[in-house]
Amino acid sequence: MTDIPSGITSGTTPGNAGQTLPWQHARWQEMLAWRASGRLPHALLLCGMRGVGKQHFAATFAQALLCVQPASDGQACQVCRSCLLLRAGTHPDYQQITPVEEGKSILIDQIRELNASLAFKSHAGGYKIAALWPADRMNTAAANALLKTLEEPSAHTLLMLITSRPAALPATVRSRCQRINFTLPPADLALPWLRERLGATHDAAQLLALAGGAPLKAIALAHNGMPLHRTALLDDLDGLQRGLADPVARAAAWVEWGAADCVEWLFGYIVDMIRLKSAAHPPRLKNRDLDVQLQRICKRTELSVLYRHLERTQDALRLLSTQVNAQSLLEDALIGWAVDNAAASSQPA
Ligand SMILES: [Zn+2]
Repeated sequence: MTDIPSGITSGTTPGNAGQTLPWQHARWQEMLAWRASGRLPHALLLCGMRGVGKQHFAATFAQALLCVQPASDGQACQVCRSCLLLRAGTHPDYQQITPVEEGKSILIDQIRELNASLAFKSHAGGYKIAALWPADRMNTAAANALLKTLEEPSAHTLLMLITSRPAALPATVRSRCQRINFTLPPADLALPWLRERLGATHDAAQLLALAGGAPLKAIALAHNGMPLHRTALLDDLDGLQRGLADPVARAAAWVEWGAADCVEWLFGYIVDMIRLKSAAHPPRLKNRDLDVQLQRICKRTELSVLYRHLERTQDALRLLSTQVNAQSLLEDALIGWAVDNAAASSQPA
């Protein structure tokens, strides 16, 4: 696998922020203009689907604000003391607040600590910046505690709340932030960028399509071997349908591969199977390269079953963003798939 240059991951921190992404230039200029005219809001709500570069943008902007000798285009110099401290993850005026444990909430104690630190003057005399993500993971008590700082921020404070699910945040929090939407980039900007990073060993166009057009998600897919897993997921659906696979064991494997990713793939497969079932030659398939396997599976099932599982998968996606037990959730989904298709299990493959 080609090495991906540091600086772009699906979870960028200022330590590896680097340059603005090519599809974010207009937004970048807008933010610099706000700053130059003293209109930079004290709280931003960065919204957009996973993998469009919200965190990267926040990290790059934080670094630019804290850099003591930014370039004429507003980008951080990467070599001043401030940039070096950020890279080391030890800048005293920058904090990132994330759940202490993967899949858990951001807790009130974390926000209280943040509030306390933001009440003081900055160490370097400039901005004090905090980035929170996923902001929708703040529990109610944490969100209420954050209101205090959102309502009465001290001077030169910048809070950046990052989320792909803004509706999951309390309205009281949303209304006190300037909302900034990050949309999917056009392919003519995303693809050259992606090709440059992935090299010739990856099919950038296919990865971008599989990532739903989100470039950083495409990079993550290339990294975590999901192109390999996605075929295995389909084999599992096939095996479960024919009573040849154990749903509990397969659920455990899916959890290991990343429950949220697997359920997203499952959702895409079901949508494609509904398309295949509804039209002889559907014009649009997300997983066009797997249409033979998809055809084989959907021939053995009913349209009503597919719609039922589409709904269940949507529920599962929503639940996975809460603190649900992923193993149980996937077991339910896969047992349901096996049971609903049991009548067809005796049919030939
Ligand atoms: Zn610098």
